[in-house]
This record gives sequence, C-alpha cells and structure tokens, in this order.
Amino acid sequence: MKRQFMCPVCAFSEMPEPVAEGNICPCCGTEFGYDDDGVSYRQLRDDWVAANAPWFSPVVDAPINWNPWLQLLFSEYDYAMRPTPHRNDIVETTAVGHSVDAEVRLCSTAA
Ligand SMILES: [Zn+2]
Repeated sequence: MKRQFMCPVCAFSEMPEPVAEGNICPCCGTEFGYDDDGVSYRQLRDDWVAANAPWFSPVVDAPINWNPWLQLLFSEYDYAMRPTPHRNDIVETTAVGHSVDAEVRLCSTAA
C-alpha cells in the first residue's frame, strides 16, 4: 500500500512524499525547506486561503470531489481567514480559527 502524507499547510492528506526539503505539496504548492523558510505554516495557510485555495499542481490532478474548504475544516488546523467559496457545491462555510462550531452546508447542484 502506498504511503501518503499530510500537508501541514493545507491539510491535503494524499501527499506522495513526506514533508522534507525540496518536496512540494501538489495541493497548495508549498515547497518545504523553501516556502516555509522563515514563514509559518499558519501564514502560508492564510495566504493560500486568501488566494481562494486553488489547486496547485499542473501535473497531479486534484482528487475527485476535492474540496479545499472541507479539507481545512476537517483538519482542525488553525486559520483566521474566512473562506470565500467560489465552488458551487458550497453555499456557506463558516470557520474561525480553531472553532469547533465550524459549519459547512452542502447542497447538491446535480440535477
Ligand atoms: Zn499543502
């Protein structure tokens, strides 16, 4: 079975390689040992969220049904930004820092 690793920035749980210098998270694009040099994971996370949490890698496809907001919420990572969902499967996302009353409402847009 293939091992997978969790990104400390975006909480993507299917990184093919562990957090180590030169490895890049395909999800948020953090290059460990470089992007995080002198910058906290929290700051990188907020920057990624502020950019609307885009999928990074042009080579690795995002998992089917990948949703960065759910990924963050389920991780319980700390972040201050209020996400501004732009994907149509999320109508409302509320999360403030480590709050457990994070709330996500999903509505299916499938016809
Ligand atoms: Zn990441």
